[in-house]
Amino acid sequence: MAKQLPAHVSTKRPIAIGLLTLFVAVALAVALFVQLSSYHLLTVDHHDRKYATVVQRTVSHDVQTPAFVMTYPVIGNQKGDGLIREYTTAITERYLQNRTPDTPKDQQLRVTYEILFYDQRTISVLFTERITQANTLLSSQSSTAVFDLTQGKRVTASDIITDTPKLTDLLYDYQRAHNTEPTLTTSELVRLLDLTPEDFPSIVPYGDKIAFSFAAHSHDPSTLMTIAISKTLLDGIVQPLYQAPSTDSVHQTASFTKLISTMPSRDQPIDPNGKKIALTFDDGPDADTPRLLDALRRYRAHATFFVVGNKASSTAPTLKRTIDEGHELGNHTWSHPYLTQLPAAQIDRQIIDTQEAIRQATGGYTPRLVRPPYGAIDDTVTAHLHGLQPILWTVDTRDWLDKDARVIYDRIMAEAKQRSIILLHDIHPTSVDAAIRAIRDLRADGWQLVTVSQL
Ligand code: ZN
Repeated sequence: MAKQLPAHVSTKRPIAIGLLTLFVAVALAVALFVQLSSYHLLTVDHHDRKYATVVQRTVSHDVQTPAFVMTYPVIGNQKGDGLIREYTTAITERYLQNRTPDTPKDQQLRVTYEILFYDQRTISVLFTERITQANTLLSSQSSTAVFDLTQGKRVTASDIITDTPKLTDLLYDYQRAHNTEPTLTTSELVRLLDLTPEDFPSIVPYGDKIAFSFAAHSHDPSTLMTIAISKTLLDGIVQPLYQAPSTDSVHQTASFTKLISTMPSRDQPIDPNGKKIALTFDDGPDADTPRLLDALRRYRAHATFFVVGNKASSTAPTLKRTIDEGHELGNHTWSHPYLTQLPAAQIDRQIIDTQEAIRQATGGYTPRLVRPPYGAIDDTVTAHLHGLQPILWTVDTRDWLDKDARVIYDRIMAEAKQRSIILLHDIHPTSVDAAIRAIRDLRADGWQLVTVSQL
């Protein structure tokens, strides 16, 4: 049972903890200093094996079996050399802090490096840390650090990329069109679209290219891929600072998993033998429709929107965007009545006025499909649809009744079958939330999300 502490104790405690933490930190720092300074440091310089002007510096304790041997490049740029030394020393300090009196004397950290790219603006260095004991490898890990020599700071992915969604689009398009080696599944392709700047362990400006490393599976770093992309394809995606091709002659050739210099077409043909589903959204557009369109675009999905005519002129920009992005618009009557309860002349008006309103709003788009509100259709209604094809649904998510994104999502996923037509309403934020999750997961499962006419 938790005991309620008196108020004065709970206010003092964080201060006490703070003081204790400070004391421990100081004690550790002193211990580390003593440990480091109790040995003489040995420094040996060689030439870097790739760059004649770069010194490869090796620093270790001057004892028979030093606890660490660290190697780093010295390039003769004051800011850069300070940053590189700091970065390497931090790796060593982390290791020394983790050593205890019980650590065997022959356990050793070795830090080695390789310069991936080096020009006047940036240097990218791959550091490898290996811990060995009696010449047996205990662990090994690598990290790439990019240092901006002009600004005098270490730069990360978000300093270099300005538009991650555009970059992931580009990587996705490329992978989809060249899905050869290493082979990516649909779910790995969708994983590409989910990448954020933090997911790139390294981004290396490299001459007229930029190299991007990322894990193809979110939780498996061993699937790391490095892809170099020509800077000409990265306009608006990369900081202008890193966009200009390097004219330096100092850089050497590096190797990448792939080099992308031309892009395939953005058009994704529908595989007629693949799995297909049509998501349909009625009664909109509304406030949440744009973020639904964002998700459809992101995951290369399409949908059909059955539009209420009297909303068309006030939502013209959204309707225009909807058709520009390859979706289908359908007629959902002018004012959403039960058509079966109307005289024929009014059915005509409901259909014709909506066709006209959508044409006006979109600059000429003419719907070919109609969805009668409430699915209310009979012979009279059918006879007054002016050539439009009536489309009902195979899956009713009842999203207007249960405004719970989780419930709606589960219904979509449970009912997703070949050639399903799924009924949703983009006027409810919960439906849009559910649809966005379902679009991602259906795509990851290999479903093609198509318009009703493409089914
Ligand atoms: Zn409706």
